[in-house]
Amino acid sequence: MGNINKSPDPEGRAKYLVVISLDGLSSADLKIIKELPHFKEILESGSHAREVIGIYPTLTYPIHASIITGCYVQKHGIVANTRLQPGREKPEWFWFRKEIKVPPLYDIARSAGLKVGTLLWPTAGNAKVHYNLPEIIPTKPRQSQLWLVLSHGTPLFILDILRRFGRLLKGIKRCNLDNFVAASASYLIRFKKPDLLLIHLLDLDATRHRSGFQSAEAKRVLKEQDVRLGQIMKAARDSGIFRETAFIILGDHAYLDVHHRININTALHHAGLISLDGRGKLSRWKAWANACDGSAQITLKDRDSKSDRDCTFKALMELKNNPHAGIEAVFDRKQILEMRLGDSIDFILEAKEGYCFTASSGKKLIEPAKTDHRAAHGYLPDRKGYSSLFLASGAGIKKGVVLHSINIVDVGPTLAALLGLTLPEADGRILTEILKFKPQQKEKESL
Ligand SMILES: [Zn+2]
Repeated sequence: MGNINKSPDPEGRAKYLVVISLDGLSSADLKIIKELPHFKEILESGSHAREVIGIYPTLTYPIHASIITGCYVQKHGIVANTRLQPGREKPEWFWFRKEIKVPPLYDIARSAGLKVGTLLWPTAGNAKVHYNLPEIIPTKPRQSQLWLVLSHGTPLFILDILRRFGRLLKGIKRCNLDNFVAASASYLIRFKKPDLLLIHLLDLDATRHRSGFQSAEAKRVLKEQDVRLGQIMKAARDSGIFRETAFIILGDHAYLDVHHRININTALHHAGLISLDGRGKLSRWKAWANACDGSAQITLKDRDSKSDRDCTFKALMELKNNPHAGIEAVFDRKQILEMRLGDSIDFILEAKEGYCFTASSGKKLIEPAKTDHRAAHGYLPDRKGYSSLFLASGAGIKKGVVLHSINIVDVGPTLAALLGLTLPEADGRILTEILKFKPQQKEKESL
């Protein structure tokens, strides 16, 4: 696992680090949030990057794994939000820490003797941290939300915050969940003072999917997130640790508005690669598409079969050449390796702007987008206007540095450096431009 020892305290680094992932915060939001009081304070007192380029697919789970390991997918292994589970209506998500193949920052911090909290942080189920509220939702009938969370998190801590703030929940509507998480984060800061606190707030993402990327509702949620940010900052002030705390606020991806959805397994069914029974359920498959919203990952059952590979490629190219099918590009295994996604997928389809994918194998290939899914992500990370934001302020952070563009894999090494730690396997670089101190780790060039 490399060097996990905390280096001697370099002057001016952070004693406490609070990371707030605002799911769906994008570069386009800068002009709105700079007018909101708490974001404004962070922006004016610290440094920020106007564009954060994500990784492919630009989905929440792969990107959070990249944030927390500093690595591309080929190293951390979180290739999508959901696992490949052909035919299953609601596949399992990558909920659990054991699925990340390189050490995430929270493990390294814990091994170095730091106190760590994770609140709805993706892929942190069963993570060995001090205070863990895992993000897990039921995907099977009769599964209990409470039992899932308690059995894969820190039960006494969860029961404690439920007792204190459970009245805020009122079901798991995302805005109420964010209120609960912000209250729990403030409580942790006030009374437990974790050295590293990772917080994931969800309502901006849910609202953008439902109402559109730049909808009035999304702007309203940005204001609500500002209030929550203020609440968390106040907790640090009240408990006397504000000056020793670094705050990082970042997004994971932006969105494209969509008008149609592509039921991609319908195409594989039409090509004879999928068989359905009389009730329309999957009975046999040679190739299956895992839908990633703006892209789709196709995997062959027999990955050594040249004829299955050729047949699948032919079907996908026919689809791409159909101007009405909404397909922008087809990538093969070699290109997927070059994009640093590893070797678990055989083909990727990228949707055209205005289109997204579902894993359905229903009758129609193309249907209007669902009325509660007006914006999508999961597309290639370098699409125009498709970047997210990174804000940093507080202990160890310079004032007034504005970086034009960084890569999402640069975040993890920078977070580690703020705590005097290193991410030994990171692909990204430490953003030394924004740090007041010289990190001990040799600076790496971003790849
Ligand atoms: Zn997200």
